[in-house]
Amino acid sequence: MNGARIALFPGSFDPVTNGHLDVIQRAVRLFDEVIVGVGHNQTKAPIFTVEERLAQLREACARLPSVRVAAFSGLLTEAVRGFGAVAVVRGLRAVSDFEYEFQMALMNRELEPQCETIFLMPRAEYSFLSSTMIREIARLGGDISPFVPEAVARALVERLRVP
Ligand code: ADP
Repeated sequence: MNGARIALFPGSFDPVTNGHLDVIQRAVRLFDEVIVGVGHNQTKAPIFTVEERLAQLREACARLPSVRVAAFSGLLTEAVRGFGAVAVVRGLRAVSDFEYEFQMALMNRELEPQCETIFLMPRAEYSFLSSTMIREIARLGGDISPFVPEAVARALVERLRVP
C-alpha cells in the first residue's frame, strides 16, 4: 500500500494473551497496517518457539486483515526502518510498566529520531495480565482459558504436561 501508515507492535508474545489482542485491536483502528513483531533475541528459554508464536498470533489475528505477523531480530529501530513503520506501539498496563517503557521509547528516539512510540491502554480487566503470569499459572495447573486464545490455552497445557 503506497503511503500506508504502518505501526510495529513488538514483543515476545510467549504466549500471546487477550491483553496483547486488545492492544492490537486498538492499533488496527489507528493505522493502515499493524505489524505484530515477534522478537527473536530472548535471553531466557521461551515456552514456544518463534515459529509457534507466529502461528498462534496469525490464528488469533485471522479476522483482522490489516494485521501482519512477522519475526524480527536485532535492534528495534532497525526493524522499524525495515518495515517502513511510522510508529512503535506498546501496551501500558500500569504505572509499573511506565519506567521501563519510557526509558525504551526515549532511547529508541535517540537511536532513530523518527521513531515515535505510541502507548495504548488495554481494557481494565486485562491490566493485570502478562505472559509471565500466564506461564506461571499454567505451570501450577491453574485455568488460563479466560486470558488467552483457546488454541494457546490448549497448546500450553500440552506443552507443560508432565510426561
Ligand atoms: P516484551 O517482552 O517486549 O515486554 P511482551 O510480549 O511481554 O513483550 O509484551 C509486548 C507488549 O505488549 C508490551 O508493550 C507490553 O507492555 C504489552 N502487553 C503485555 N501484556 C499486556 C496487557 N495485558 N495489556 C496491554 N498490553 C500488554
